[in-house]
Amino acid sequence: MAYLGDPKRTIEILNKYHIVFQKKFGQNFLIDTHVLDKIIAAAGITREDTVLEIGPGIGTMTQYLCENAGKVIAVEIDRTLVPILENDTLSGYDNFRIINEDVLKLDLKKLIDEENGGRPIKVAANLPYYITTPIVMKLLEERLPIDNITVMVQKEVADRMQAGPGSKDYGALSLAVQYYAEAYIAANVPPNCFMPRPNVGSAVIRLTLHREPPVKVRDEKLMFALIRASFNQRRKTLQNGIVNSPELSFTKEQVAAALSGMGLSESVRGEALTLEQFGELSDRLL
Ligand code: SAM
Repeated sequence: MAYLGDPKRTIEILNKYHIVFQKKFGQNFLIDTHVLDKIIAAAGITREDTVLEIGPGIGTMTQYLCENAGKVIAVEIDRTLVPILENDTLSGYDNFRIINEDVLKLDLKKLIDEENGGRPIKVAANLPYYITTPIVMKLLEERLPIDNITVMVQKEVADRMQAGPGSKDYGALSLAVQYYAEAYIAANVPPNCFMPRPNVGSAVIRLTLHREPPVKVRDEKLMFALIRASFNQRRKTLQNGIVNSPELSFTKEQVAAALSGMGLSESVRGEALTLEQFGELSDRLL
């Protein structure tokens, strides 16, 4: 079996099928076996696992997944790649299924029920960067049976997902991700590990889903609305952000009273608050 992690083999397949990279689908194929090893190791994939791969491309990571997992379900939007996967690059494996779909439109709950009897799966992917956040948030917000999501993303996005209060990268994405999962950056990956090379650095991030949210909050929607409001106007105080938010209708006095009840100053900024504090603020304002 010739592995696509070897750039020579990738070039062979690209030439054989006259593949033109589809920029609109965020196609940057991996050509580094060390990175593939790191993804498999970080995800902790074993023969017991059913893995969902988003965007197999020509099958570079899929080959590794098929060799390490029990079963691989790969969802690819580009239909021209499907016959290449089925008849060539993955033809040596019998533990995969390709679904030619847009992952954002797929009923993943139903898929996991059908493919794994509703038991937790793992997600592994070198994500298309133009839709990284919608894909990750879909996987988290739909409360699917998922063990961990181990994915390649833009470095800057990985930093934002993992950041804590006080860091310049801390924001609504950090809090949204950390409400559902524990984030861990497993590797930084330079542009020369891909073909074609992206213009940005990349990182492998593992999100291990919490069994229970780390914060108990009475109205999740309100908490996230407060989080969005306080980071929408980053240079303003949290109080002004909330009072000016078109999504919310709290008065200055209400916000000031809630903040003072928490021992926080009226001039505090959103970036100083932990997830627990946003939870408490939300419960106080409810
Ligand atoms: N896994 C391959 C690799 O590592 O070499 C390819 C990764 S490439 C960065 C992203 C892949 O996601 C491409 O194959 C692209 O066609 C696919 N893709 C893009 N948008 C998608 C979507 N909405 N649903 C499913 N696949 C998508």
